[in-house]
Amino acid sequence: MKIYRKHYCLKQHKTARTFLKCAIPRNAWISGTGNIAVIAWCRVPTITLWGNEVDAYRAKKMIDDSACGGNCNRRHDIVKVEIS
Ligand SMILES: [Zn+2]
Ligand SMILES: [Zn+2]
Repeated sequence: MKIYRKHYCLKQHKTARTFLKCAIPRNAWISGTGNIAVIAWCRVPTITLWGNEVDAYRAKKMIDDSACGGNCNRRHDIVKVEIS
Protein backbone atom coordinates (compact mmCIF):
# COMPACT_ATOMS: atom_id res chain seq x y z
CA MET A 1 0.00 0.00 0.00
CA LYS A 2 1.30 3.44 -0.86
CA ILE A 3 1.62 5.92 1.93
CA TYR A 4 1.15 9.66 1.52
CA ARG A 5 2.85 11.49 4.32
CA LYS A 6 3.83 14.88 3.10
CA HIS A 7 3.70 17.02 0.10
CA TYR A 8 5.16 20.38 -0.67
CA CYS A 9 2.95 22.85 1.02
CA LEU A 10 3.18 24.79 4.22
CA LYS A 11 -0.23 24.04 5.59
CA GLN A 12 -0.77 21.62 8.41
CA HIS A 13 -3.54 19.39 7.20
CA LYS A 14 -5.63 17.98 10.00
CA THR A 15 -7.61 15.44 8.04
CA ALA A 16 -6.95 13.09 5.16
CA ARG A 17 -9.65 14.92 3.24
CA THR A 18 -8.00 18.34 3.37
CA PHE A 19 -4.62 16.76 2.69
CA LEU A 20 -5.88 15.04 -0.45
CA LYS A 21 -7.79 18.11 -1.61
CA CYS A 22 -4.50 19.98 -1.52
CA ALA A 23 -2.25 17.18 -2.80
CA ILE A 24 -4.55 16.26 -5.69
CA PRO A 25 -6.18 19.57 -6.56
CA ARG A 26 -7.81 18.38 -9.77
CA ASN A 27 -9.86 15.69 -8.05
CA ALA A 28 -13.55 15.69 -8.89
CA TRP A 29 -14.77 14.77 -5.43
CA ILE A 30 -13.83 13.21 -2.14
CA SER A 31 -16.39 11.28 -0.14
CA GLY A 32 -16.37 9.37 3.12
CA THR A 33 -14.19 9.70 6.18
CA GLY A 34 -11.07 7.94 7.38
CA ASN A 35 -7.42 7.95 6.41
CA ILE A 36 -7.34 5.20 3.81
CA ALA A 37 -8.15 6.51 0.37
CA VAL A 38 -9.26 4.63 -2.70
CA ILE A 39 -8.27 6.82 -5.62
CA ALA A 40 -9.54 6.24 -9.13
CA TRP A 41 -7.19 8.13 -11.43
CA CYS A 42 -9.30 7.46 -14.49
CA ARG A 43 -10.14 10.69 -16.31
CA VAL A 44 -10.72 13.05 -13.36
CA PRO A 45 -9.47 11.59 -10.06
CA THR A 46 -12.20 10.59 -7.65
CA ILE A 47 -11.48 9.66 -4.07
CA THR A 48 -13.34 7.72 -1.42
CA LEU A 49 -12.10 7.59 2.16
CA TRP A 50 -12.36 4.60 4.46
CA GLY A 51 -11.66 4.01 8.12
CA ASN A 52 -10.06 0.60 7.67
CA GLU A 53 -8.24 -1.45 5.07
CA VAL A 54 -10.90 -4.13 4.72
CA ASP A 55 -13.50 -1.62 3.59
CA ALA A 56 -11.00 0.12 1.33
CA TYR A 57 -10.00 -3.11 -0.41
CA ARG A 58 -13.63 -4.05 -0.83
CA ALA A 59 -14.36 -0.68 -2.41
CA LYS A 60 -11.38 -0.99 -4.74
CA LYS A 61 -12.36 -4.50 -5.78
CA MET A 62 -15.81 -3.23 -6.60
CA ILE A 63 -14.52 -0.56 -8.99
CA ASP A 64 -11.88 -2.98 -10.35
CA ASP A 65 -14.64 -5.45 -11.21
CA SER A 66 -17.27 -3.07 -12.48
CA ALA A 67 -15.35 0.05 -13.62
CA CYS A 68 -15.45 3.31 -11.74
CA GLY A 69 -17.18 5.44 -14.33
CA GLY A 70 -17.49 6.41 -17.96
CA ASN A 71 -13.84 6.32 -18.96
CA CYS A 72 -12.37 3.72 -16.65
CA ASN A 73 -8.91 2.47 -17.51
CA ARG A 74 -8.43 0.55 -14.27
CA ARG A 75 -6.03 2.98 -12.65
CA HIS A 76 -7.19 2.46 -9.09
CA ASP A 77 -5.00 2.90 -6.05
CA ILE A 78 -5.24 2.44 -2.33
CA VAL A 79 -3.28 5.01 -0.39
CA LYS A 80 -2.85 5.48 3.30
CA VAL A 81 -2.67 9.07 4.47
CA GLU A 82 -0.49 9.61 7.49
CA ILE A 83 -0.66 13.06 8.93
CA SER A 84 1.55 13.85 11.84
ZN1 LIG B 1 -1.23 20.86 1.38
ZN1 LIG C 1 -11.42 3.39 -13.15
